[in-house]
Amino acid sequence: MGQMVGYRCSLCGKEYAPNSVTYTCPADGGNLDVMLDYELIWKQSYLHSLATEAEPSLWRYLHLLPVDDPGGEGTPLRQAGWTPIYQPPALSVSLGIENLWVKDEGRNPTASFKDRASAVVVARARQIKAGVVVTASTGNAGAALAGMAAAVGQKAVILAPRTAPPAKITQLLIYGAKVILVDGNYDAAFDLALEAAQEFGWYCRNTGYNPFTLEGKKTAAFEIWESLVLPMGDRSKPLCVFVSVGDGNIISGLHKGFKDLYNLGWMEQMPRLFGVQTSGSAAVANAFFAGTEKIQPVKADTLADSISVDLPRDGVRAVRAARETNGAYVVVDDADILKAMADFGRVGIFAEPAGATAYAGLKHAVANGLIQADDPVLVMNTGNGLKDIKAAMQAMTGAPVIEPSLQALKSVV
Ligand SMILES: *Cc1c(COP(=O)(O)O)cnc(C)c1O
Ligand SMILES: [Zn+2]
Repeated sequence: MGQMVGYRCSLCGKEYAPNSVTYTCPADGGNLDVMLDYELIWKQSYLHSLATEAEPSLWRYLHLLPVDDPGGEGTPLRQAGWTPIYQPPALSVSLGIENLWVKDEGRNPTASFKDRASAVVVARARQIKAGVVVTASTGNAGAALAGMAAAVGQKAVILAPRTAPPAKITQLLIYGAKVILVDGNYDAAFDLALEAAQEFGWYCRNTGYNPFTLEGKKTAAFEIWESLVLPMGDRSKPLCVFVSVGDGNIISGLHKGFKDLYNLGWMEQMPRLFGVQTSGSAAVANAFFAGTEKIQPVKADTLADSISVDLPRDGVRAVRAARETNGAYVVVDDADILKAMADFGRVGIFAEPAGATAYAGLKHAVANGLIQADDPVLVMNTGNGLKDIKAAMQAMTGAPVIEPSLQALKSVV
């Protein structure tokens, strides 16, 4: 069971008791951080039990989460997280980075990082006996909520832009959620989900609004720590983590996870967080470069639909994640993303555009001297390429079509 003692507003610092608020700070709309009882977690000496923990999912960190065990054994809800970490030699060589890892979030049950958030929100929904959970989504958050909810018979309503990639919309439908496509962008769907939750009494999962999404996403930091940071030891240079940024909830979640470990005294050196945005959707990066936390909305336009956001809903914490960890923001173009998809593909990793964006950002950072050869680097691939094959085809030249004869084959091989 999670050792939650309350919430703290990320803007004004005001603290709230666990049951006195649900979403954002009533005073200023700031994102709320869940506060844990570190002393209690420490007393339970959970660190020592982790070494022998057999649970191959994010639920191995239940003691560090603010929810009760959701049950659902034998279902996909129990399979979120604990994703593989690859070490592709060809990418290390081509970038000249000695230690390079890729964590493949495309291996989650609904094939994106969002399963982490949705699994924990569904656990919360069960705990507070919510009848219906609603979310706005560019596709992945909705697919994740629909899938995790279906696993345990929770009702879900998803509002997505009608322009979302067909594979993502298909996922929503096949998982049996109530799917409503909005003739507008993600931001419009976001606002409508808030209104609907208010009107119908639904529990709202919206990213950068519901504090529990961040708590789910922080589990990726725990896995990175357990698999890489602990074994490397503190004599190593700090791990540099590259991740793409839309609303900014993933990078903020990674930051929260690392801060939890740091506050527990289980990790002495914070990893450095590098956020990657596209030039067509760079509201958080713009604020980072301007040296401010004030997020100015943009008119988002990028092929990486999962990070196409006008007004990032977790922008302030996303700026801080890089700033407070001695990281940075990097901006890449859609063309760089297509190249990065091909780079990943050639080492057996199929990423959707927003997943490959992180790798495009690393290439940019290496070229600009932000990252040195002996910096240990981990790149998050946040989503599977099958979610958007139209984009993937743009990254490739098509295959030749031939007559079924050896002669015709000889002319093309
Ligand atoms: C949601 C998403 C992101 C960005 O996460 P934010 O919390 O919006 O910054 C990146 N990649 C993929 C594949 C996503 O689905
Ligand atoms: Zn506040």
